[in-house]
Amino acid sequence: MTPKVIHKRTFSCANDHPIVYYTFDENNKAMCEYCATHFVYEEERTPSQEMQDKLEPIPCPMHEDMIKIILVCATIIISVSIWRYYSPYQTFMRDCIYNERYEWDLSKEYCTWHYKELLKEDSWLKEFLEN
Ligand SMILES: [Zn+2]
Repeated sequence: MTPKVIHKRTFSCANDHPIVYYTFDENNKAMCEYCATHFVYEEERTPSQEMQDKLEPIPCPMHEDMIKIILVCATIIISVSIWRYYSPYQTFMRDCIYNERYEWDLSKEYCTWHYKELLKEDSWLKEFLEN
């Protein structure tokens, strides 16, 4: 026999017997001593809670837009980082710092190249850095 669902902690039973009052214990289960009916306590749910249980989860459009925005931002950040990393200026700076630190044998000309380039009147590098 399926137990009767009760939404109150104290309830009564009067199935062909004098009315008896019971209170659910911590197991949320009870049995009538007269008619052996089983009772189970369940917290009462509001209509909106029950409706939520029945609803199928649908993808949130705001959520999907946020993911797209994050992906676009991440792509831009990664692209700019790569572009910066391999830009002529950064490449020279990096290579020449490593050259000293790890004693690579890059020529002095190579490492002073950007410096010389900066000294020129119509230096594209200067223009590039100032903009
Ligand atoms: Zn009973």
